[in-house]
Amino acid sequence: MDCGHDPNALQLMPKEPSFENALAFAGELIGIPGLPGEEREVASRLKEEMEALGLSDVHIDDTGNVIGIATGTGDAPPAMLNCHLDVVAEGDHSEWEVPPFSGEVRDGFLHGRGSMDIKGPLALQTYAAASMIGQAPGDVIVAHTVLEERGGLGMKRLLESGNVDPAVVIIGEATHGDVCIGHRGRAELEVVLTGLAGHASAPDRARNALDLLGDVLVAVRELGENQKADPVLGPASLIATTVDVLPESRNVIPDKVVLALDWRILPCDDDDSLLDRVRCSIKRQIPLLPEGLSYEVRMAKELQTTYTGIQEERSLFTPGFLMDSEHPVVTSAAGAVGRRRGEGEAVVRPWLFATDGGWSCGIHEIPTIGFAPGEEGFAHTNRERLNVEEAQWGYARYPHLVTAVQRAAAD
Ligand SMILES: [Zn+2]
Repeated sequence: MDCGHDPNALQLMPKEPSFENALAFAGELIGIPGLPGEEREVASRLKEEMEALGLSDVHIDDTGNVIGIATGTGDAPPAMLNCHLDVVAEGDHSEWEVPPFSGEVRDGFLHGRGSMDIKGPLALQTYAAASMIGQAPGDVIVAHTVLEERGGLGMKRLLESGNVDPAVVIIGEATHGDVCIGHRGRAELEVVLTGLAGHASAPDRARNALDLLGDVLVAVRELGENQKADPVLGPASLIATTVDVLPESRNVIPDKVVLALDWRILPCDDDDSLLDRVRCSIKRQIPLLPEGLSYEVRMAKELQTTYTGIQEERSLFTPGFLMDSEHPVVTSAAGAVGRRRGEGEAVVRPWLFATDGGWSCGIHEIPTIGFAPGEEGFAHTNRERLNVEEAQWGYARYPHLVTAVQRAAAD
């Protein structure tokens, strides 16, 4: 779509990669709302900034992801810095102490939707990469992706495209200065119960799909009580969340019931193994189906559309991942980051929430870690904010981190 030879780019004022400019840019991005699928304006503003910062090959791919390269000096393998362009809805503006799109710095915090998830870290990563042009031991790919808040279609398509080939990925989701090495994934499944609809006054002529629900709920609960655990990530968890009954009428016997299951999964889980386990558990509970009734277990699906018009019907599945805490990328990252207060290496731990690292590491097996300022407790709330002093510290650590993981990936 755009090969980076935009004649306007030459007229842009070059930007100095300083923390103050990064913070101002973060504030400006917060002022541009961008829900999942509506990231166009954020993307074009970011592209402009990457060009002004002197990144090479700056472009927006067909999915709407924004990509640029900070060219390194040596032949260390490329590292990729990644944040996402979308934010979650801001909700009722009157509930915010500071207006959600102000991007204001007040009382030592950058405020607003996206300040920590994730426009603040996005600006820091982008500027940190620019500060390493001609200095990093290898190329630093800056790739900020769409639709992360809806399961990561942007990252999925970026990695499938083969347009980037990083040896290591650093995700800018909040770690509060720690080094994060993984998280559980999430899958949404549906159990569809089918019968024959009829008038409630004549039950003999119908087959009530609700008749299967009790046994299916028992089967799901039993499966939920027998989940595997990971020593670092903890146990997987499975729970039934909603029931839709069709037709939805109090004097009609329903022929369709859809039970939704929310499953927080471990990195080893995939669609097929999840589906199999639910089917087995139901089969154990209902060895012989009553005549006229049936059930189906399937992944929940959603049709997603990027702002560039790409459509994909995708399973609601976000992979998990976990790096070995002794992996050279992890140990070198922890050493390079250090601690904001006190001596020693950074704390190494998993995230509690899911990120696009599930795609890069869980699916594509690229060593992936997370590092960013910000307390995850503020994410998706109307008190979202980023501590400026912590952000400045994180910004200063980024070049050390990138250099360390590039060297570790080269060995
Ligand atoms: Zn995020």
